[in-house]
Amino acid sequence: MYKIGHFVGGARIEGMSGRHSDIFNPATGEVQGKVALASADELNAAVENAKAAQPDWAATNPQKRARVMMKFVDLLHRDMDKLAEALSREHGKTLPDAKGDVIRGLEVAEFCIGAPHLLKGEFSEGAGPGIDIHSVRQPLGVVAGITPFNFPAMIPMWKFCPAIAAGNAFILKPSERDPSVPMMLAELMMEAGLPAGILNVVNGDKGAVDGILDHPDVHAVGFVGSTPIAEYVYTRACANGKRAQCFGGAKNHMLILPDADMDQAVDALVGAGYGAAGERCMAVSVAVPVGEETADRLMEKLTPRVENLKIAPYTAGDDADFGPLVTKEAHARVKGYVDKGVEEGAKLVVDGRDFSMQGYEDGYFIGGCLFDNVTKDMTIYKEEIFGPVLSVVRAKTYDEALDLAMTHEYGNGVAIYTRDGDAARDFASRINVGMVGINVPIPVPLAYYTFGGWKRSGFGDLNQHGPDAFRFYTKTKTITSRWPSGIKDGADFVIPTMG
Ligand code: NAD
Repeated sequence: MYKIGHFVGGARIEGMSGRHSDIFNPATGEVQGKVALASADELNAAVENAKAAQPDWAATNPQKRARVMMKFVDLLHRDMDKLAEALSREHGKTLPDAKGDVIRGLEVAEFCIGAPHLLKGEFSEGAGPGIDIHSVRQPLGVVAGITPFNFPAMIPMWKFCPAIAAGNAFILKPSERDPSVPMMLAELMMEAGLPAGILNVVNGDKGAVDGILDHPDVHAVGFVGSTPIAEYVYTRACANGKRAQCFGGAKNHMLILPDADMDQAVDALVGAGYGAAGERCMAVSVAVPVGEETADRLMEKLTPRVENLKIAPYTAGDDADFGPLVTKEAHARVKGYVDKGVEEGAKLVVDGRDFSMQGYEDGYFIGGCLFDNVTKDMTIYKEEIFGPVLSVVRAKTYDEALDLAMTHEYGNGVAIYTRDGDAARDFASRINVGMVGINVPIPVPLAYYTFGGWKRSGFGDLNQHGPDAFRFYTKTKTITSRWPSGIKDGADFVIPTMG
């Protein structure tokens, strides 16, 4: 049994609130640790600390700040196995997938090594007689990130790497379900040369989040989690005059046109639908074959693949497809959705509800589930399940399939499988979803592009990572200067124009 407190002022500290949350091992159902839940005073102390440290860090030249990111990348590689093991132990995902979680964060740290370039301003010489204009990007001060359980390495890094490389101090409020890795990341940043107080981890629940949202010295909030909380955080942060980018839930569709390579499409659906037990915001949860014949061919190939998914604890080796769900509540919720789907008339072709893992009967395992004949009005179509459950909605035409994805309330990711370039082009141009895959099932953009959903999958503007992250965590100052030569003319009472 281990205890996790907070990371403030460059070191781990104990939680003093007297409140804590259990950390479960999802494979066994056992409580393996306890994480402290911060009080308002503890959060305020972390912000104070960050505020005091930030000006010196902002004054450190960007190349030196970038060197911390360089070293951090090396340390992530050095500790990859340790990080992945800690991650799998609390989250439940397989070890190769846990490494992917770390690497997708590491890639953003690599991108942030380019901070000196990304922070360069603009300059216009001779914008008027003797007048130059230039703009600079300055850090905001203390900023925060509130992150979900499903990527406990990647998403914290998406938030703190650009913010810190841009010269801010950061308060990270990670998920209370899997808090070990965020604490390890903070230690690695210190080892990489980050001054104390620039990266702080405050563990907690709603209390800590509200403390961040209401704190006058926190100037920006980046959030990732479920849509109701994303909307809440966005509304409250904005009402308090902060910048906010809040990313929420998803229901990602994959269209399969009659000319698609069906083997490729089935591989894609199995990986993107069931990988990480479906606990990914970019998981494909709805497959939309176009035409009855396409749907029949798809079901014929897909069904045995779902029946034969390998489910195991992360300790069982690298060839498992996915592990348990994160909590008992998540398990009950996913099972409840499958029950509801049956009740509402969808055809449950593969039923994983009674899956039990020998030797791990108290773990939160559920088998892959596959529904056919799902319709638009069903709960399992409308809501995010966040489990290994794939719904097949049969569409008669391409336009009907497109309309399904267009009219769904979520707009995180979407994919189309086809050999027809014209259809793919039309789809990419018309679809109202933030990230589009063409014969690619999980179109997560690389670190030097930006990541963000549309509709109710994202609130606020400016996306995560890529150049947008540097815009989000800096403010622009524009300086107009004149160095006149000769004799002063005195005051000018007419507004100056550049004509
Ligand atoms: P969650 O909304 O329960 O929690 C996210 C964060 O909010 C956590 O830090 C949590 O402590 C905090 N929180 C929870 N309840 C709160 C409340 N009432 N008030 C204030 N703060 C609260 O989400 P989760 O279960 O950790 O993560 C899964 C969700 O995240 C899914 O909906 C998934 O789609 C989404 N997600 C989205 C993206 C994206 O980029 N769009 C990426 C990953 C996950």
